[in-house]
Amino acid sequence: MERASFSPGCSFLKSLLVAVLLLTSGSSAIGQSKSRTGSAPQARKQPTQPRNPQIARLVSEIDARNIERTIRKLVSFGTRNTLSEQNDPNRGIGAARDWLYGEFEKIAAASGGRLTVEKQAFEQPKAARVPQPTMLTNILATLKGTQADSANRVYVVSGHYDSMCTSPTDAKCDAPGANDDASGTAAVLELARVMSKYKFDATIIFMTVPGEEQGLLGSTHFAEEAKKNSMDIEAMFTNDIIGSSIGGNGKRDTHTVRVFSEGVPSNETQQEAMTRRSVGGENDSASRQLARFIKESGERYVPGMKVWMIYRRDRYGRGGDHQPFLERGYAAVRFTEPNEDYHHQHQNVRVENGIQYGDLPQFDDFNYIADVARVNAASLAALALAPARPKNLMVNTGLSNDTELKWDANKEIDLAGYEIVWRDTTEPVWTHAQSIGNVNSYTMKGMSKDNYFFGVRAIDKEGNRSPVSYPRPMPRAPANRTTPASN
Ligand SMILES: [Zn+2]
Repeated sequence: MERASFSPGCSFLKSLLVAVLLLTSGSSAIGQSKSRTGSAPQARKQPTQPRNPQIARLVSEIDARNIERTIRKLVSFGTRNTLSEQNDPNRGIGAARDWLYGEFEKIAAASGGRLTVEKQAFEQPKAARVPQPTMLTNILATLKGTQADSANRVYVVSGHYDSMCTSPTDAKCDAPGANDDASGTAAVLELARVMSKYKFDATIIFMTVPGEEQGLLGSTHFAEEAKKNSMDIEAMFTNDIIGSSIGGNGKRDTHTVRVFSEGVPSNETQQEAMTRRSVGGENDSASRQLARFIKESGERYVPGMKVWMIYRRDRYGRGGDHQPFLERGYAAVRFTEPNEDYHHQHQNVRVENGIQYGDLPQFDDFNYIADVARVNAASLAALALAPARPKNLMVNTGLSNDTELKWDANKEIDLAGYEIVWRDTTEPVWTHAQSIGNVNSYTMKGMSKDNYFFGVRAIDKEGNRSPVSYPRPMPRAPANRTTPASN
């Protein structure tokens, strides 16, 4: 993927050029049959995408000093164990909850009413790590989308504000949680501060949750409510342990963030599994496309950072708040530092054999956290400014050396058209793209679906691109059905 570094003037000219190209390529199809056929330009590499000046500006406003202040404040509550004190103003999860709520409220007050804050409280019944029924409170700050046709489309960015020491049910011990996960919580608060000054087509929810260490309880409650209310969540990011640039292996890496994405969807049906076994697709879930999108947009706007895609749901033996979203069919990824230090996670604060244990702020790298927040900001802004990814995308499964794709028309008024993307089946990321105008089907002549992976993304008139949709097989008319081939 290209790593562009443009001057602003050059970027503007490129935007203009892209817009003109899109408009002209799309205009021939408007009002006519919305279907096209194209020959395959085998050598058309992905064109370098222009930078959107609004995204570049907001990324530059993320401030490491705010992140440091938030983390030190959260640590000052002693413990944020979900089972700790709810009503003490100085110590425990309740103090952290109220302080965070107040901070989001301050941001909301400065946003002219566009950011709204709410407490989503619920009583968690007894569970493996919850000995007594316990109140949990998610804090949600919603930045409503400004384009009527996109405002119901939602992107969620999250961090968990609870913490733990060695025992997850010890509510008394000090559990500073400076990295796990004051780092993610501070990033989310800073994202809300910066992004609430800007307008986006779609809605962004800045979320901080408790109960992660108790079994992903806060995020599960949110995801379940969202599902019940048919909330159109197009993507969810969890930021969890994004605090340190030095690992327990002694490696220092200030320029890399891992983005974990699952390949086979957690909610895959039997039918979908059969298709996958037959023709692949285990590397093309919506979450994997989201990870590719984050890599492209994050690296475009934060040139010092590398998005290291990890092709698995999470680390061995670990989980995160993206999981309840995945299980309910939402695309979701996890951001985490490149090398972890287990002396500083889930440990009572102590010195043993000269080694400092505990999740203390001196092990955080605030500039690094700010860079991870910038990758989040760039990707979230790119998502919320772009059209939705194309829906109901299907590939004709008939025996042919051409590849025919069909999808539903996007609804956005500023839609310019679509791009077909493709790659060799062994490539990790999309390598080729071709603009095809504003159509709802397209046939790639002379390129067989057996030999490449294809996808489609939507583009608006400013050149903002959606994540890629990956096709499922088109149901075949009985007359066209061929006997399953054994040859
Ligand atoms: Zn965590």
